[in-house]
Amino acid sequence: MQYERELRQTQAFLTEHDDFLVVAHVQPDGDAVSSTLAVGWLLSCLGKKYVMVNEGPIPKRMAYLRQAERIVDLSAEPLNRKFDYVICVDCADFKRVGTTKELFAEGAKLLNIDHHPTNDGYGDINLIVPHAAATAEILFDLIHFMGLELNETIATALYTGLLTDTGGFRYSNTSPKVMAAASKLLEYGVDGPGLSELLLEQMTLSQLRLLTRSLNGLQLTEDGKISWVVVTDEDLKSAGAVHEDMEGIVNYPRNIQGVEVGLLFKVIDEQAVKVSMRSAGKVDVAKVAQSFGGGGHVRAAGARVEGTLDTIVPRVVEQVRLQL
Ligand code: AMP
Ligand code: MN
Ligand code: MN
Repeated sequence: MQYERELRQTQAFLTEHDDFLVVAHVQPDGDAVSSTLAVGWLLSCLGKKYVMVNEGPIPKRMAYLRQAERIVDLSAEPLNRKFDYVICVDCADFKRVGTTKELFAEGAKLLNIDHHPTNDGYGDINLIVPHAAATAEILFDLIHFMGLELNETIATALYTGLLTDTGGFRYSNTSPKVMAAASKLLEYGVDGPGLSELLLEQMTLSQLRLLTRSLNGLQLTEDGKISWVVVTDEDLKSAGAVHEDMEGIVNYPRNIQGVEVGLLFKVIDEQAVKVSMRSAGKVDVAKVAQSFGGGGHVRAAGARVEGTLDTIVPRVVEQVRLQL
């Protein structure tokens, strides 16, 4: 009932206004990019004007997504204007939109479409479905609710969001509904195996180099329940790797038998560290992430923490230990 009401409010927001800004979280993943494009597609179906923007570049790996090149990289191409109507997708909290908030007009109306249980409902309109595996799943429902007909392009985008946020339909968020949606999307001609190969199997050489280098420093607590890996800028440089090449590294400490929580610490700059957290199920890492100003899901969460590695690592490990 609540879902239907929120879908109706969302539809009204989209149909009653025009000239939208569509944004997703910083360092966008498959779900963030796909959801941005899906909202863009939906707005074009309604004959609306819109601009899609991200704080930084779209991962190269996602260049196959049609219209991905239309997502403005704000770090490379400043926009000298503001928007009264903003749609945020896959952003657990307002901070996650990053520098794109400079484009929000004062008093701008915000539509918040997201699937993180830690989402605080920062929008004027909120379409938040904590049980959805991906924001793409919510957009799949919205498109259906609005009576729009999918095509291969948009189906490929939605499938990308489902595939990446479920780790290839393997994580515990892979509900019957996700599989039914994926099945429907395949009927529109989505190349499922091709996308799995591209997004989940293939690695660049620098990605592999970064992985081997960082796994060399893997740490484990004495009881074997918490394991972590650190990636410094030096690691990135020496592997010739970029930020998106760290995707997936956090799974290695988590995959060790007996480990309950795997962590990845990535040095952002002298002031901050990005922490990625993965749980085998016992520990709610969203809670841990929230205590450091971040958020996420029970089994996958993250936070940007101010400080240096030597203070942050023991603090985070200690917080996880308290949850065990
Ligand atoms: P990641 O470790 O970046 O793959 O993120 C894991 C999950 O936690 C994703 O659902 C993210 O959206 C969420 N997440 C990551 N970083 C943050 C953050 N700083 N604040 C809130 N949620 C986050
Ligand atoms: Mn995301
Ligand atoms: Mn997501």
